[in-house]
Amino acid sequence: MECDKCERDAVMHAGYSGAHLCEKHFCASVEKRVRRRIRRDDLVPRDASPEDPERWVLGLSGGKDSVVLAQILDDTFGRDPRIEILALTIHEGIEGYRDASVDACVELADDLDLRHELVSYEEEFGVRMDDVVEDDPEGMAPCAYCGVFRRDLLETYAAEFDADILLTGHNLDDEAQTALMNVFEGDVEQMAKHFDASLGPFDERTESPHFVPRAKPLRDIPEKEVALYAHLKDLPAHITECPHASEAFRGEIQELLLKLEEDHPGTRHSILSGYEEIASMAADRYRGESTAEMRECERCGSKTTRDVCRKCRLLESLAV
Ligand SMILES: [Zn+2]
Ligand SMILES: [Zn+2]
Repeated sequence: MECDKCERDAVMHAGYSGAHLCEKHFCASVEKRVRRRIRRDDLVPRDASPEDPERWVLGLSGGKDSVVLAQILDDTFGRDPRIEILALTIHEGIEGYRDASVDACVELADDLDLRHELVSYEEEFGVRMDDVVEDDPEGMAPCAYCGVFRRDLLETYAAEFDADILLTGHNLDDEAQTALMNVFEGDVEQMAKHFDASLGPFDERTESPHFVPRAKPLRDIPEKEVALYAHLKDLPAHITECPHASEAFRGEIQELLLKLEEDHPGTRHSILSGYEEIASMAADRYRGESTAEMRECERCGSKTTRDVCRKCRLLESLAV
């Protein structure tokens, strides 16, 4: 099959758009969609200047998503004096898996000449995920602990590094899965939080000193295209999945979505755009309420709706 835009061979066919693209035109199309998303989400404020640059903290896991995002951000803003990019890697303490992906992060940060910070569960909390998997006093899936700990460290360090935005590499499949999980669980408040945190009204970014708005510039790009981009550009991405991954419900949703996408191309895009509209209405509905209840955790000072935050309660259950 020939590329729609030139005479070279197509390396991919997108069912949802009907496009056949060669390597060069496919990569350009990914970059164009990421830059368009950055513009639409107003990530670069109009008054950003070299004297007072915006600081972007990027969660860099070493997986294909965050590696591709780092590469495209560096290509786009690497020489823009209005933007400072800092990569933040979290080491969960998973033997083999995380060591290899930390190597990928170091290699990429070196290639791109990116400031890179590494923090670990072990140093911060005195736990390693491998030990949590063995203990598991609450009988929860390890991903549940890991997700809480990772989010806590990303947010804490984004605030510590004075970030204007915390960027993560979530792709279209991740976001469509999360959207459906929230819908199927009937969790409207979670939808509101998801919206507030990820798309949030950026003009309010200065109001709360501890809250760092989230951005997900890859969320228009399907997972397969992110993987293909990483492969074609020969990026040092660490592909293997986490050995503890066991989010059963997400797995079921993922299968369902892939099947739907095959029969009805464009399903993921329409789920996400509809979901973001609903989530925005939910956010309006909850905004006054949830911020009023927010207070500081007695142990660590994080924002929480209870006396002790979820991370501190989980750490306590692990008796560390
Ligand atoms: Zn072409
Ligand atoms: Zn706490």
